[in-house]
Amino acid sequence: MNKFHIAMAPQFQQRLASRATELREILRGQFAQAGSADVHEVSDFKDAADQDSLAAMGDVQAARAATELEQVRAAEQRIASGSFGLCVDCDEPIDLRRLTALPATPYCTGCQAAHEHSSAHESRAKAS
Ligand SMILES: [Zn+2]
Repeated sequence: MNKFHIAMAPQFQQRLASRATELREILRGQFAQAGSADVHEVSDFKDAADQDSLAAMGDVQAARAATELEQVRAAEQRIASGSFGLCVDCDEPIDLRRLTALPATPYCTGCQAAHEHSSAHESRAKAS
């Protein structure tokens, strides 16, 4: 199995950064439409754009974007801390093909499947 190597960090950082920019644009557009939140800083999104309030607004796209943006930023932090490429659940290396397709994913294939299975049953109650 191919694994992430630290030498690949710059290309992943670049992809994560450009994805984060796209997601911020989506969120900015959603807030502009909603005309509610006064969001200046990207660091506010985590609080301002929490899943529950956005879901309550019926704004599925924005909720997804906020969730993905959090994952992207967590992935950037894992690159900085040297733990990128390892599953946050089981600590095993994530297959490089999966990482390439989903650079922000925190889980290996097995743990992702487990999470999708459980979240389907728990109705995402503990989003925050
Ligand atoms: Zn795992």
